[in-house]
Amino acid sequence: MKRARLTAIEELTFEDVDKPSPEEREVTIEVKVCGICGSDVHTFQGKHPFVHPPIVLGHEFSGVVDEVGDRVDNFRPGDRVTVEPNLPCGACYNCRHGRYNICENLQVIGNVGYDGAFAEFITVPADRVVPIPDGITYDQAALIEPAAVGVHGVRASEGEIGDRVIVFGAGTIGLSILSSVRAAGAKQVVVSDLSDYRLKIAEELGGDVTYNPSRSARDLEDLVLDTFDGSKADIIYDCVGVEETINEAISVARKGSQIVLLGVPEGNLNVNMAFLQDRELEIKGSLMYVRKDFHEAIELIHGGKFKVDKLITHRFSFDELERAFQLAIDETKMGEKMKILVEF
Ligand SMILES: [Zn+2]
Ligand SMILES: [Zn+2]
Repeated sequence: MKRARLTAIEELTFEDVDKPSPEEREVTIEVKVCGICGSDVHTFQGKHPFVHPPIVLGHEFSGVVDEVGDRVDNFRPGDRVTVEPNLPCGACYNCRHGRYNICENLQVIGNVGYDGAFAEFITVPADRVVPIPDGITYDQAALIEPAAVGVHGVRASEGEIGDRVIVFGAGTIGLSILSSVRAAGAKQVVVSDLSDYRLKIAEELGGDVTYNPSRSARDLEDLVLDTFDGSKADIIYDCVGVEETINEAISVARKGSQIVLLGVPEGNLNVNMAFLQDRELEIKGSLMYVRKDFHEAIELIHGGKFKVDKLITHRFSFDELERAFQLAIDETKMGEKMKILVEF
């Protein structure tokens, strides 16, 4: 079978290797579709803080069960599946308390310590495999993982029905938040992003008001007060993670509200902590997901509440993986791409 290894920065090498066989409690999956994630792009460019080549990337994928180990009785060859790519240790404090997404010894398929799905076949522990319903396509199923990130972010927050929400960043995660928070009963959602192209998709997915700080004459606080009848935001999701958005979030957060951080900040940020103290604001991190977020994400997509097809802008064949990554890193194409899928 063919497998694409990132052998050096911006260097993908196709390897010809034996198809992997499952151990007792493993499942071998024939990969159908694998999405390119922002973290894959960072690793590809050598910008990821702790993932470096050589590694086989790819953790947002769907496929068909090809073979199961002797002690696997809940999957059969032919089953349509996706995979929850986190590999928790099961023994640390957080694992023992159900928060295995923040396991002290976390490994992640295609990311940390385990080769990923830019390969024709992949073998994974059976307990990481999640069945997908017939009504979901393989393309859609490759977006279950990023959708679960959004579901987890909303669940991690103290949001309530009727909340007025701001989402910073209309990339895949921001749009997952938008759809999740809508399904959870938010009254109004404002989405901010530097790309009009992304904001248009946000509108199609149910964003009430969109805001482009690079083009708007008014400041966000003004727009928020206008939109939310004189109030600031009940809850804010930052899917960007830079100084500007976090400080902006603090300025438009209602006193006593919560800012959930899903964007990955680079280095130390200069953030106004005095407002945090004075307004009893809370900043809370959100990382990955646990299994119930995966199931919820599947239901959102299956039930049409998260129209993931609107996010899919490009499809490449596995042979064209190099081209797919070149498009992913091309900053001049920001205005025309969202989720890039690789099909096998
Ligand atoms: Zn991802
Ligand atoms: Zn653990």
